Amino acid sequence: MRKKIVAGNWKMNLDYEEGLSLFSEVVNIVNDEITGQQLVIVCSPFIHLYSLARLAKSSTKVSIGAQNAHQAESGAYTGEISAKMIKSTGAEYVILGHSERRQYFSETNELLAKKVDTVLKHALKPIFCIGETLEEREGGIHFDVIKKQITEGVFHLDAEHFAQLVIAYEPVWAIGTGVTASSAQAQEIHLFIRSEIAAKYGKDVADSTTILYGGSCNPKNARELFGQPDIDGGLIGGASLKSRDFVDIAKEFN
Ligand code: PEP
Repeated sequence: MRKKIVAGNWKMNLDYEEGLSLFSEVVNIVNDEITGQQLVIVCSPFIHLYSLARLAKSSTKVSIGAQNAHQAESGAYTGEISAKMIKSTGAEYVILGHSERRQYFSETNELLAKKVDTVLKHALKPIFCIGETLEEREGGIHFDVIKKQITEGVFHLDAEHFAQLVIAYEPVWAIGTGVTASSAQAQEIHLFIRSEIAAKYGKDVADSTTILYGGSCNPKNARELFGQPDIDGGLIGGASLKSRDFVDIAKEFN
């Protein structure tokens, strides 16, 4: 059975105290109410990672992730954060390839392939995001876009390293817009992604890869989305900033 995951992406929100307070609430509710095997991950700004990783020790059901990492090991990259630094905080996951990074920071598939390698080298698990824009969907090229993102971003890995990944399908038109992909639209793409993984790495690897849906997921639509056979959880932006909503989404796997 592949792992079910609900991961929160706080983006550039919450100062240090606000982040600790929200996270403490999340851990308490998770410990009280999550009864299944699902994993809850919180991907915070870098400033919170070390403290959250310590607080997360009180729960076997919560892990911590970062939202980006630099591709280089170390050096003269003022303002950047390396994978080794992230690892040293106790974080376990790193979001890579989020559409906001692709859009605002010009991150290409080629650059992301390097980031994936560096992050894996430091025994962190990438949550690798892919997804088409509205124009690409309306132009009927969404399958091509997704295939290119996954092929160029992660298919250079051997099967052992690929098995460390979580994939997140996030249609750009659904992120932060309140417009969710229908469960049928999401399932269609998740099945496509899984079949591409099977063609590259074989059925066993494909069947054990966790593929998350992201894009305006909330406590009202999570059940229907997570009920699809190839949707293994969610990457949650806005709703992860409210402890009750975030854990309610995760509770869909109880
Ligand atoms: C995201 O940014 O990864 C995301 C899914 O955001 P939201 O849930 O706010 O659409």
